[in-house]
Amino acid sequence: MIEFNKTPYTGNEEQYVLEAMKNGRLSGDSQFTKLCHKWFNDQLGCQKALLTPSCTHALEMAAILIDTKPGDEIIMPSYTFVSTANAFLLRGAKIVFVDIRPDTMNIDESLIEAAITDQTKAIVPVHYAGVACEMDEILSIAKKYNLYVIEDAAQGVNSSYKGKALGTIGDIGAFSFHDTKNYTSGGEGGLLIVNNLEFSERAEIIREKGTNRSNFMRGVVDKYTWVDIGSSFLPSDLQAAYLWGQLEKFDDINADRLNTWNTYFESFAALQESGKLELPKIPKGCDHNAHMFYVKLVDEATRAKFIDHLKLSDVSAVFHYVPLHSSPNGIQASYFHGEDKYTTQESGRLVRLPIYFGMSEQEQNKVIRAVLEFFV
Ligand SMILES: *Cc1c(COP(=O)(O)O)cnc(C)c1O
Repeated sequence: MIEFNKTPYTGNEEQYVLEAMKNGRLSGDSQFTKLCHKWFNDQLGCQKALLTPSCTHALEMAAILIDTKPGDEIIMPSYTFVSTANAFLLRGAKIVFVDIRPDTMNIDESLIEAAITDQTKAIVPVHYAGVACEMDEILSIAKKYNLYVIEDAAQGVNSSYKGKALGTIGDIGAFSFHDTKNYTSGGEGGLLIVNNLEFSERAEIIREKGTNRSNFMRGVVDKYTWVDIGSSFLPSDLQAAYLWGQLEKFDDINADRLNTWNTYFESFAALQESGKLELPKIPKGCDHNAHMFYVKLVDEATRAKFIDHLKLSDVSAVFHYVPLHSSPNGIQASYFHGEDKYTTQESGRLVRLPIYFGMSEQEQNKVIRAVLEFFV
């Protein structure tokens, strides 16, 4: 069976995890966390990069940082993971969905402005499959209406938009290091990226249960005390140690995935030309990280047959994201602005093929053969 995903492992993670154990300090912000923070700060050139237990937690921190309150409206696509919406729902906000673009499955930037009201507080673009949203347009709308931009870059680690790393373009960005993403911190993990100086100090406080412990540790204040709301948004140093092994191979992992992605793309180009399926589109100016390889079948019924066929060929392929506005909790807790022209239709015909770091040529060929056979 060709698995849909395999946990990325490059070789040194084991040694670093053991080293963290031998250090005798496994709590948050110990040696490996510090290494990772410095690495991301240098790599991203952001105000502050803070490891979190998950991207979900980073998004929750973002919702707290922008002071999300009951009545606030947050604009995002419905075609996303639940955490994008939950983070703001937890603070009492109203979630306002707008439709996606069929080419990238990202929020349609041209529909955002019409969804803005006096209550709107933020726009949350989700960089689906590690392919950037149209950030210039989104930033200019945000500027015009004085809104925050929070990038859900869970899938966008090592992708860029016009040369800028995803996650560093909005006021705040969030990465995921979950097992299923390109880089992992041992199963679960995330990163909060602060780009707006306004949030720099408060981010540390919220992450440290609402205390000024970070400033105390640096000797900036002489008392360690409760100064704000917060929670425990620090991962264990074991997670950072695993991640450190992955950061050492940051570009190798990307190149390996892109190689598989490009092989798939070339192998299926003829199927696209003959109208049998559609392949992902990468707009100009977007460098992507091969987080995902999806194809779109002509309709949902064909997708079901396609998945069954792949299964019989020992290839696991999956689809995801029942659009949030049609999920049980979304029906009551959210609002779709405008017409759902593409969200439901396009998500119903999309299927993801196996792609992971270290996928062998033989494994790739097995997937390719199975896909081609379906259309014979
Ligand atoms: C994976 C993912 C998340 C959640 O990441 P976790 O690290 O598992 O919390 C959020 N948003 C999107 C778009 C994702 O793909």
